[in-house]
Amino acid sequence: MQKKFAILGDIHSNLDALNVVLDDCRANGVTDFLCTGDVVGYNACPRECIEIIRSLGCPVVMGNHDHYVSSWQNLSDFNPAAAEVIKWTRKQLNDEELSFLRSFPFVSTNMGITLVHSTMDCPESFGYVFDHLQAEAHFTHQVTPICFHGHTHCPMIYEKQVSAVYRIDAQDFKLPLGRKYFINVGSVGQPRDGDPRAAYAIWEPAERMLSFRRLDYDIEAAQARIRAAGLPERLAERLSVGR
Ligand code: ZN
Repeated sequence: MQKKFAILGDIHSNLDALNVVLDDCRANGVTDFLCTGDVVGYNACPRECIEIIRSLGCPVVMGNHDHYVSSWQNLSDFNPAAAEVIKWTRKQLNDEELSFLRSFPFVSTNMGITLVHSTMDCPESFGYVFDHLQAEAHFTHQVTPICFHGHTHCPMIYEKQVSAVYRIDAQDFKLPLGRKYFINVGSVGQPRDGDPRAAYAIWEPAERMLSFRRLDYDIEAAQARIRAAGLPERLAERLSVGR
């Protein structure tokens, strides 16, 4: 059977979005899962999302929220709402769930595909890649032809030709041979590109076909969970606008 990969990340404890994405993966005949990290943070279902990702048995790389929830580090780098949810999430999880998060590597290569949450230019620092210059710094470290990432919550393609890096809007795309690609798959649980629908990507190596998926999900249900947990209202509101 030919491989069909689903690459998903920045789930951020959004169970309603994750369930819709996994239904879409099944409907599309996905054979393998890869996760670009940030299973937890921002939304109200960390335990359920950890359980589902664990049950997939797939490679997962360390996101900044996974890292800070499970390492008890100082949260001065985070905005106050994000930090509040990290502290809340720490209290929801048992030791075993925390050690699952702690087990994620910063970079993972599987079947010729690299995964990193942010950028391979110092992945432990979780820098953001928003333009071709930041992507260029990443490409000096990318060995495989394809690397998937997340972190900005904005789907995007960066293409490296011999001497230049180009930024290409996320679109269904047959990847030419002989170039390198650094592909942001967007966010399942908190999109920030102005489109509130859950995002992930499908990669079919035999056809070299990349598809970006966007799916409606029950945003009001996710918002109700945030409110019921007493988490910041702003985190519920932003789901409606995809920012
Ligand atoms: Zn994230």
